[in-house]
Amino acid sequence: MKTWKLWENEKINEEESRLLRRHADEIPIPLDEEGKRDIEILVDTFTGRDDAAGLAAPQIGISKRVVVFKNGNFSDKTPVKKGGGNYDVLVNPRITQIRGDKEKMQEACLSCPDISADVVRATSIKVKAYDEKGNKINKRYTGFLARVVQHELDHLDGKLIVDRGTTIYFPKEKSQFFDKIFKGE
Ligand SMILES: [Zn+2]
Repeated sequence: MKTWKLWENEKINEEESRLLRRHADEIPIPLDEEGKRDIEILVDTFTGRDDAAGLAAPQIGISKRVVVFKNGNFSDKTPVKKGGGNYDVLVNPRITQIRGDKEKMQEACLSCPDISADVVRATSIKVKAYDEKGNKINKRYTGFLARVVQHELDHLDGKLIVDRGTTIYFPKEKSQFFDKIFKGE
């Protein structure tokens, strides 16, 4: 599955942007065939790649509330292996607690090519969700992992780093295009 992007080759993707900007729909629990299939497509798209810490269903054109992400070892660049236990799947996730300090860090996103953005995130969160089998789960995420989870959950509400970013960085040679987007010039 290809990744949907707000823009590509200095051109706005209108149709893909509309879906990426949508508030994604809940997946019915207990999981039905369609829900199971959507989760599987997302996991299959995420596993085997080495260029993402996580992926949300809207990023592959499925407007449903499910995300997948590496649950540690972020410096290990070997592709994520399906069934390898090194990723988490969260269905219909909800942040139930935010604790600790906030931290600013540069983030990138497959759906926002060529840019990065300073984003302020909480360093400790608790999440209520269902796993890929439809079982209820409660999890705490801290540090960089908490950041990854917040980034992916934002996708389900149609929010991207261009919305959260306090500063946005892009290559100089593409400033004509990005200045138009970010500064309305
Ligand atoms: Zn993203």
